[in-house]
Amino acid sequence: MRRLPVASGLLLVTLLAAACTGAPPPEPAPDLVLVNARVWTGDAATPEAEALAVRDGRLVAVGRSADIAAMAGEATRRLNAGGRRVVPGFNDAHWHLPTSRTAELFDAGSEQEIVSRLQAFAATLGPDEWITGRGWGPSDFPNLAPHRRALDAAFPDRPVVLTDRDGHMVLVNGTALTRAGVTRDTADPPNGRIGRDAAGHLTGLLQEAASRLVRSTMPPVSAEQVYQSLREQMRKAASYGITSLQVASGSAASGVEFEAYERALREQAVDVRLRLAVPFRKEATAADLAGYVALRDSHAGQLVRFGIAKGLIDGTVDGYTAAMLEPYADRDDRGLPMFTDDELKLTVAAYDRAGLQVQLHAIGDRAIRMALDAYAHAAQVNGTSGRRHRIEHVEVPTLEDLPRFKALGVIASTQALFASPDAITMTSYVPKLGPDRASRSNAFRLFDEAGAVQAFGSDHPVFPMEVMRGIHAAVTRQLPDGTPAAGFYPEHRISVEAAVRHFTADAAYASFEEAEKGVLSVGHVADLVVLSDDIFTMPADRLHAVTAHTTLMGGRVTWQAPQ
Ligand SMILES: [Zn+2]
Repeated sequence: MRRLPVASGLLLVTLLAAACTGAPPPEPAPDLVLVNARVWTGDAATPEAEALAVRDGRLVAVGRSADIAAMAGEATRRLNAGGRRVVPGFNDAHWHLPTSRTAELFDAGSEQEIVSRLQAFAATLGPDEWITGRGWGPSDFPNLAPHRRALDAAFPDRPVVLTDRDGHMVLVNGTALTRAGVTRDTADPPNGRIGRDAAGHLTGLLQEAASRLVRSTMPPVSAEQVYQSLREQMRKAASYGITSLQVASGSAASGVEFEAYERALREQAVDVRLRLAVPFRKEATAADLAGYVALRDSHAGQLVRFGIAKGLIDGTVDGYTAAMLEPYADRDDRGLPMFTDDELKLTVAAYDRAGLQVQLHAIGDRAIRMALDAYAHAAQVNGTSGRRHRIEHVEVPTLEDLPRFKALGVIASTQALFASPDAITMTSYVPKLGPDRASRSNAFRLFDEAGAVQAFGSDHPVFPMEVMRGIHAAVTRQLPDGTPAAGFYPEHRISVEAAVRHFTADAAYASFEEAEKGVLSVGHVADLVVLSDDIFTMPADRLHAVTAHTTLMGGRVTWQAPQ
């Protein structure tokens, strides 16, 4: 028995030595290392690095290539960036899911071109399917007046429904009007306009709520169609370096769209993190609001989340439906607010009280002011703060309202490509606003200077979701062909770095996820994109042509450019 205490004592000494002076058990090797990169981390503490290590989807080291390479074990996947620029994965803060295939009419330029694109698309459809398209603008038509005559001539007995670029008007042909039972005696619905010429004949243009007269008679899309569209769109997004999408449609919370997100989650087919919205409605009951909060709480994972409510206060400048403080420059009309001031205040306060973040589409200076007033009112009556309510598009704010964004903690959710001086902007948008309002439209620099948090998005499919095209537009305020040479109100240009922050860290802040993503530092998720060129040193006029070489979401390769 004498030897036992000695043995126990030795054992104890050994254990103490291990605990006090010995090396800790070795860290498991990373799952992946990325070396030989020029990493822009977005983290002020260590802005540049050469390499990253990833374990369990998160960054475990950011530093020098030699040090990171030495961490790799047998099973570690090694990626070499070939000296390329790496930035945090892009986060599109305002995006919509197209639920079915449709003809692409973006940049068509004329009625004839629209018809020829539709004929090509119609050839891929069954004989009974409706012909749909999207992306047209008033400048595609003579005298900026969209009319169904060319559609009737080309498609005399098949229904045609064409959504405009902004998604607030449709142009339909005579067959679609007949199927929907819309005649010259049909009255305009609330919040909608049915287009008529001077003689009272239907032009085929249906604005805002009037589009539902036709949409409601179209055959519904199937759950399978929506799911396949979601899969295709996620693949596309990853190919542009996008790792997060914020879906700005209340329709995400129910029906076939909700089913598609749930199925993607179940089948582990989520290639891009998704943040989804619930509807913002004046009719919402306490039970509805409780349901939205329950949806947020049941979707608290990293891939599919809820927590925000999407609503619309007004329409668009091109449709004269954006709500303005003063009449349009070429028409005695101030647009069409969809709420009264009191309705909006009451509704925002109810959502705010329930703990929900709100995002309101507001384009005209009057609509933007209504949103700011409603957010200020909610904070006051509910005693809430830090809700990070947002205004979407926020295209034409008054200069007096700019400081209110920072003061109220309201996020400016802007769309980089909206600053494109394209044909619709120059021939429809600018003349309708007039020079004073046009000079402060989509002026991203003004929000930055006012200290607002500004999150960039695309508003896809209104505009393409290629992030680098958006960054090019915000930085140059020119088209890819270099016009106009002096830039469109060039005083509003922002730096590449500012544009990248708006598409990364600021977009993450806009969804309460800045502690998780938006910068490349240890502990954050390994969401990043290896770019074809160094966007911080190259000539700005080529930014639109930069492509994603490799995209990683949670350390998983979601896109690899073909060699
Ligand atoms: Zn939108």
